[in-house]
Amino acid sequence: MSELLAALATELPADSLVVDPDIVEPYRYDRAMTVRPGRPVAVVRAGSTAEVQAVLRIATRFGAPVVTRGAGTGLSGGSAAVDGCITVSTERMRSLTIDPAGMTATVQPGLLNAEVKAAAREHGLWYPPDPSSFEICSIGGNLATNAGGLCCVKYGVTTDYVLGMEVVLADGRAVRLGGRTVKDVAGYDLKRLFVGSEGTLGVITEATLRLRPLPPPPTTVVATFAKVVDAARAVAAVMAQIRPAALELMDRAAVAAVEQVKPMGLDPSIGVLLLGQSDTGMAEAEVIAAACRDAGATYVALTGDPVEGEMFMAARRMAIPCVERLGTVLIEDVGVPIPRIPDLMAAVEAIALRRDTAIPVIGHAGDGNFHPLVTFDRADPDATARAGVAFDEVMDAALALGGTITGEHGIGTLKVHRLGVQLGDDVLDLTRRVKHALDPLGILNPGKWA
Ligand SMILES: Cc1cc2nc3c(=O)[nH]c(=O)nc-3n(C[C@H](O)[C@H](O)[C@H](O)COP(=O)(O)OP(=O)(O)OC[C@H]3O[C@@H](n4cnc5c(N)ncnc54)[C@H](O)[C@@H]3O)c2cc1C
Repeated sequence: MSELLAALATELPADSLVVDPDIVEPYRYDRAMTVRPGRPVAVVRAGSTAEVQAVLRIATRFGAPVVTRGAGTGLSGGSAAVDGCITVSTERMRSLTIDPAGMTATVQPGLLNAEVKAAAREHGLWYPPDPSSFEICSIGGNLATNAGGLCCVKYGVTTDYVLGMEVVLADGRAVRLGGRTVKDVAGYDLKRLFVGSEGTLGVITEATLRLRPLPPPPTTVVATFAKVVDAARAVAAVMAQIRPAALELMDRAAVAAVEQVKPMGLDPSIGVLLLGQSDTGMAEAEVIAAACRDAGATYVALTGDPVEGEMFMAARRMAIPCVERLGTVLIEDVGVPIPRIPDLMAAVEAIALRRDTAIPVIGHAGDGNFHPLVTFDRADPDATARAGVAFDEVMDAALALGGTITGEHGIGTLKVHRLGVQLGDDVLDLTRRVKHALDPLGILNPGKWA
């Protein structure tokens, strides 16, 4: 046994330390299909903050890399293992306390997003951030990626709900950032630095999250368009007038993929599907419907039935897993300012044509955040190369439109080669200095974005 493993075995309970290669194997991967992960020396299924601290103290002593892992649903290779790392899994850290009067939830990172939502609901409260993966992703992973989702267009993203956090630093110290109050400007807002830091600055071991009253059931607008740019014009028109509770888009190829893999009664011959929701009632839903009609929608319908509305939203949430069944997918996550959505859509269409590669598009349209799904046959080297070029070109198109290479999935391993292009030399240098101040040995998620 290596000295590193011996030190871990000495300080950790036996059931926390996993070295059996068969059990370690699934912890090497996240959902980024093209990322080749390394091999961990061990997985630590930490049961407490104290255990995470022990791991990081030992990692610092040995200079060993540490990869933190929530549920491994990340789409950018952020929790994919690197060679020789200790993978810290938070899956066993699952405590949860709801404070109904203070409207907060204090959670450990291993809980699923859906579990936090369900616990809040028992008190008539709501934890809004709702990535499409909400039933399978951890709240720690959501914090570390600053996850978005369907309702973020109106209710904001994960960081908007974080009041306080406990974080274990690279040297093993545990610090508390922020607190339980809605307003708090004492010192730098360091908790926001850790939100979205993708495991490169510390391990989030607890968070106090803000809850809201449950919203009323939504009214859903379903609209179809012949052309994706028409749908994009409708989105821009809606967003110029109101903040819908959701505004989601699926193009023809994405609808067809859902119908092929998991038939849900959608007509695969329709062009583009736009799904809008309002939780303030019919008047707002009518604004969405009118904007769709004005932009040339071929069909528009409204439903106040929440079950029917949820069926359409479920189809949208199924899109990524369904497209993944049809080939290898490089999942984009670009964002552009709302008025530039039609330009992004046109650019993606042109790239798909130019590179002869299928790129179904889905997206949180109301946020200007889209997931062009660059789909290819990995057994075909030429197709693989073309897909790689298309992937970079979509990012470049978003940047040229004043956008971002990632709106919610993070940089991880997949987009690290384009981070500097977006940030520029000075900001990249600043980023690296922040990283160095917090992780001087560079042991936290090395080779990932910082
Ligand atoms: C079908 C599908 C749909 C999706 N839809 C959305 C969507 O709508 N919106 C969205 O934002 N994302 C979406 N995702 C992506 C993914 O679910 C999110 O990024 C999610 O937040 C990752 O959570 P996780 O627990 O799986 O984290 P992991 O994949 O395990 O980790 C993600 C990153 O966070 C770090 N990390 C995890 N836990 C901690 C911690 N406690 N402390 C420090 N670092 C940590 C990891 O090192 C890694 O860098 C989707 C994924 C799938 C498969």
